[in-house]
Parts: sequence; C-alpha cells; structure tokens
Amino acid sequence: MPSNIQFIRNATVVLNYAGKKLLIDPMFAEKGRYPGFPGTANSHLSNPLVDMPVKPESLLDVDAVLVSHLHPDHWDEVAVQTLPKDIKILAQNEDDAQVIQSQGFTNVEALGTDANFEGLNFKKTYCQHGTDVAYSIPELAEVLGKASGFYFNAEGEKSIYFLGDTIWIDEVESNLKTWQPDVVVVNAGNASFENEALGAVIMGKNDILKINRILPNATIIAIHMETVNHSILSRKELSDFVTDQGIQDKVIIPQDGQVISL
Ligand SMILES: [Zn+2]
Repeated sequence: MPSNIQFIRNATVVLNYAGKKLLIDPMFAEKGRYPGFPGTANSHLSNPLVDMPVKPESLLDVDAVLVSHLHPDHWDEVAVQTLPKDIKILAQNEDDAQVIQSQGFTNVEALGTDANFEGLNFKKTYCQHGTDVAYSIPELAEVLGKASGFYFNAEGEKSIYFLGDTIWIDEVESNLKTWQPDVVVVNAGNASFENEALGAVIMGKNDILKINRILPNATIIAIHMETVNHSILSRKELSDFVTDQGIQDKVIIPQDGQVISL
C-alpha cells in the first residue's frame, strides 16, 4: 500500500508507512464531551469543538497505536474505552506506559530514543510543551509534563517528522537542519493560556514560516487546529498567512478526515 497520512482530527492521525499502519494520538470523544482546559484561552468552550469525521470503530484496524503524551486531546477516555485492550501501544516513556497499563491495556511498550516496531525504525524526539516561564511555575510544569515527537525515515519512503506538542526550541531546529525531513507535521494551533504572559504550549503560524525558511522544499502539514478550546489559530488565519508569505504551495492545512498521499 502506498504511504499516506489520514488526518482525523486535532492530533489524531493514521499513518500508513513502509507497510505499517499506526494510529497516532487517538482522541475519540464526540463534540462537547469535556469542559474546556481551565486557565487556557476560550476555556468556556467544551471540547472537542467538532465531532469525529469518521466512526472511531473504523480506526481500530492498525498495527499499533503511538501515543505522544497523555493529555486528553491526544489520549482520551473514549479512546481508552474503544481500543481493544490487547492492541499494541507504543508509549513515549515508562511513566506513560504504566498509566496506559493501569487502564487495562496488556500490550504496552515504552519507547526509547531509537525505536523499532516490527522492523520499522524511528526516532522519538524531544518536545517542550510550553514556554520557560510556564515551566517555571511548578503546578503548570506538572500539568504540561513531557511530550514527544517522532521521526520516520524508512528506505524508499519520504522522511516524516511529527514535531509533537512543542514550542520552537533548539532541539527542533537542529533536528530539522540535521535530518532535512521531506514532510513536517506541525501541531500548529498556537494553543495558549488565558494569561498571555505564559505564552503558547504548541507552535503557531510564525513557526511554520521558520520551518519553511530552514527547509524550503519540505511539505508542511499543519494540524491541531479548531478542535480544542485553547488552539486559537484557525485554518483560515493560517491559510491567509501562508498565502501572504507566498508559501501556500508548501503548506497543507487538511480538513478532518483528509487523506494526504506521501
Ligand atoms: Zn498536549
């Protein structure tokens, strides 16, 4: 099967790659199931803001589920209820693997930096899920926690870097420069706190421009928009921005459910 990415919603993606099928960051809830994240922008809105484009049950035929971290917009109670308990789960670290096991899953593996799943080699990458200011506040540091990205570079396939829930940091920049990925998947909703001094917890439109400046030939796929309350960058605003910058041919802003060939 040719490699592709099916963007589902928020950060949920089905990656068909090098003969493997991975479900990444499943959040399966119906529209409005959860209250907004307290202390964040637009916390009066309920999450998710939109319904799934497909039935969650149609997404279970995968080789493994890859979970970048356990925030509920990446791993939620409906996913926990819906996924078969013996499905293979790849967690970012031992702590997350233990939580997932405690939820009843029996086939959970904690990833190292160099991961191998049934012959598919990939890297787990470092994320900083908020600003230094936000992490300097212990309660916030606890909530933000650790997150990971993933880099795939299989023989004969395009290389893909899922940046994960991260702001712009030296590690991301150096990975982009070193690996020169063909495709960069960016969690781009500029999710922010109510207190603007705390900054954003993921990337936004200016980071997309920075990626394009480093890798002018890369295809950038912008996701994690218009699904959770605090993601304040809309598809329209990003689309207008990349058009103004003349980089619209390099940036894909998929609709929920859209399949992108690689
Ligand atoms: Zn997160």
